[in-house]
Amino acid sequence: MVSKNCIFCKIARGEIPGDMVYEDDDCVAFRDINPQAPTHVLVIPRKHIEGLAETEPEDQELLGKLVAVAARVAEQEDLVESGYRVVINWGEDAGMAVPHLHLHVLGGRKMSWPPG
Ligand code: 5GP
Ligand code: ZN
Repeated sequence: MVSKNCIFCKIARGEIPGDMVYEDDDCVAFRDINPQAPTHVLVIPRKHIEGLAETEPEDQELLGKLVAVAARVAEQEDLVESGYRVVINWGEDAGMAVPHLHLHVLGGRKMSWPPG
C-alpha cells in the first residue's frame, strides 16, 4: 500500500514536509517544489501506485476522486475563470520523474498547445 523509499509516500505520511493545499483519507495535494506555472499543485493518492499505466480496474473510483480533487484544488486556487491544465505523465517520453501517480494542476499563465 505504501512504499518505504517513495518521496511522495513520505510527503503523504508527513515524514517529509510538503506545502499542503488539500488532504483527505484517499489523497493529498501539495505545491510542486519546482513550479512550472504560478500555480503548480500535485494531487496524489495516499496509496502507492507507480503511475497511470500501473493502475488496476479496482483503482477506477480512486482515479475519479483524484480528478475531482484536481478540480477542487483549481477552484480553491481561483483558476476556474482564467483556466488551468491537469496533466499526468507516464514514462520516459512524457518526462515522468517520480514513480508515484500524480496529477499536475497548472494555472496562472497562458499555456501553449500542443505541450512541449
Ligand atoms: P513528473 O515529471 O514525474 O510528472 O513530475 C514530478 C514532479 O514532482 C516535478 O514537477 C517535480 O518538480 C516534483 N517534485 C519532485 N520532488 C519533489 C518534492 O520532494 N517535493 C515536491 N513538492 N515536489 C517534488
Ligand atoms: Zn509512493
